Amino acid sequence: MHKYPSYLDLLHSGELEKRVEASKKYLSPCTVCPRECRTNRLEGQKGICLSGRDVRVSSYNLHYGEEPPISGTRGSGALFFAGCSLKCRFCQNYPISQLNHGNDCSPVELAGRMLELQRMGAHNINLVTPTHVVPSIIEATFIAAHNGLTIPLAYNSGGYDAMDMLRLLDGIVDIYMPDIKYASDERAFRYSTVRDYVAVNRQAIIEMHRQVGDLVLDGSGVAHRGLIIRHLVLPDDIAGTRASMEFVAEHVSRQTYVSLMSQYFPAHRAHSYRELSKCITQEEYAYAFKCLEMYGLENGWVQEKINNE
Ligand code: SF4
Repeated sequence: MHKYPSYLDLLHSGELEKRVEASKKYLSPCTVCPRECRTNRLEGQKGICLSGRDVRVSSYNLHYGEEPPISGTRGSGALFFAGCSLKCRFCQNYPISQLNHGNDCSPVELAGRMLELQRMGAHNINLVTPTHVVPSIIEATFIAAHNGLTIPLAYNSGGYDAMDMLRLLDGIVDIYMPDIKYASDERAFRYSTVRDYVAVNRQAIIEMHRQVGDLVLDGSGVAHRGLIIRHLVLPDDIAGTRASMEFVAEHVSRQTYVSLMSQYFPAHRAHSYRELSKCITQEEYAYAFKCLEMYGLENGWVQEKINNE
C-alpha cells in the first residue's frame, strides 16, 4: 500500500537532497518555467515572473475555500507565492501575481512556514502559484521534512509548467491542481502573453496524471493523492471549455475530478478588452456544465452561483 506523503521516501533514500542540488541549476540561466528568460536568478536578477533568488510569499494561512477534499474540515495550508510567469490580463489575484506584493523568504523560512501550517492543523501544504519557485519549494520541503513535515504537498498552478521541473517534483508532490485556462494559443497569447500555452499545459497535465493518477480520498473525503483540474469559465467561451474537456476525457482520464469555476469577474486589465469586461452568464455556465456531461466527466465540482452581470 502507498504511504503518504511520498516525499518521506525520497528523504530517507537521500534522493530528496539530490533533487535540491539538481533544481538549483535551473536558476542560472533561468529555465524554471517554459518562458526560459535565462536570467541569472542566483545573482538576484529577475525575469518575467519578477522572482530573484528567494521566493516572495504574499501570505500563508489555513484556507477553507478550496475544493472539499483539499480544505477538509481543518483547512488547507495555503502558501500564496508572489509573482507569476503568466501575465493574465484578467488575473483575479493580480496584487499578488502581477504587483508582486509579499515578503522575501529564504528556503529555511519557507520550511518554517510549512511546519507552522502543519502545527495549525492543515491537511496539506497548498502551494499556490508555485511554477516559478520550484527550486525553493524543493529545498524548503527537504528542510521541513527533516524537521517533521508529514502532510502532503498540493501543487496549485496555472498549468504552464516546465517538464523538467515536473520530473524533479515526481515523488515530492502528491496532489496536483493545475488550471486549464485555454484551448487556443492565440487566446493564450492575447490574454496571458504566452505563445505555447496549450501544448505545454496538456503535456504538463498528462505528466502530472502519470505521477499521481486519479484522485484518492481517505475515509473522511480528504485528498491524499491525485489530480484535480480547475477550469475558470470565461465570457464568450474564451477558455475553450468544450475542447478542454474533450482533452481531459480523451487524453487524461474520464475519472478526473474537474472543478468548473464560475467566479470570473473583470479584474486587473480586463476592462481593456471588451470581451473580458463582463461576468459570465447563466447560459454560459450551463453550457460549460454540459461540456462535462458531453465527455462523461462525472467527478468534480460545479458552483451554484455566478457573479452578477
Ligand atoms: S521562472 Fe521566471 S525568470 Fe525563470 S524562466 Fe520563468 S519567468 Fe523567466
